Amino acid sequence: MNPTREAVSALRNARSVAVLTGSGVSAESGVPTFRDAQTGLWENYDPMDLATPEAFARNPELVWEWYEWRRKLIGEAKPNPAHEALSELEKRVPDFTLITQNVDGLHREAGSENVLELHGNIHRTVCSKERTTIEPENFIEGTPPKCPNCGAFLRPDVVWFGETLPVGVMEAASEAARNCEIFISAGTSSVVYPAASLPYEAMESGSLVIEINPDDTPLTAVADIVLRGSAGEILPALSSSGE
Ligand code: NAD
Repeated sequence: MNPTREAVSALRNARSVAVLTGSGVSAESGVPTFRDAQTGLWENYDPMDLATPEAFARNPELVWEWYEWRRKLIGEAKPNPAHEALSELEKRVPDFTLITQNVDGLHREAGSENVLELHGNIHRTVCSKERTTIEPENFIEGTPPKCPNCGAFLRPDVVWFGETLPVGVMEAASEAARNCEIFISAGTSSVVYPAASLPYEAMESGSLVIEINPDDTPLTAVADIVLRGSAGEILPALSSSGE
């Protein structure tokens, strides 16, 4: 059977589905993936050298400015057909969990409800010392701004490379992966751990694993069904065919 038909037919009767998304799902909304070249002012910087606690300790101003630029880019982005298809799929499947590595909030904007944000959300700001959320009207101005309670620098509430995930979120994602009939991995390079372990947990529990990506990833060789192409084309084809 052709892989798309095989995926459609599996999804038609599925009662529990977990989906893991990565930055490829937001690429068609104009939010660049980390592996795409950056543009303009930032083209000479590697995101792997900016999205780390060491980079923030070394040069907090540079890291804050990079996040200001990304927040603006994300603020102008709208959900694309991939986000919309996942929100539609949630309405059809009784037990549906969307696990995302994206920090852009576009899944919720598209109407998805049961969303686990593994890597936080760029629209929230926290104190780098106390970890409390601080609203923009309370920022002590500066680059980066400072915490009104303790004076430490503020930072985006995202998980940087080398940091641990928010308490409870990875556990909930593992549980969804282990209990689903179908696990879809879409638009992720499958190299950033611990998120990259989720499809393997699903596989070990007997789930059917479907990968959607234009390129090969470490998951490709072991996935049950591989759908080559963009998430914005493939996900709508999967979600509408059950109606
Ligand atoms: P990644 O940059 O490592 O990989 C992106 C993957 O998407 C690649 O495998 C690529 O082949 C695939 N891809 C590109 N265009 C696609 C499309 N149109 N449809 C489907 N797939 C497509 O991203 P990652 O795996 O998410 O992991 C890196 C980290 O980057 C994560 O921690 C994430 O938090 C962060 N990040 C988030 C955003 C965002 O929130 N939008 C953007 C950039 C990076």
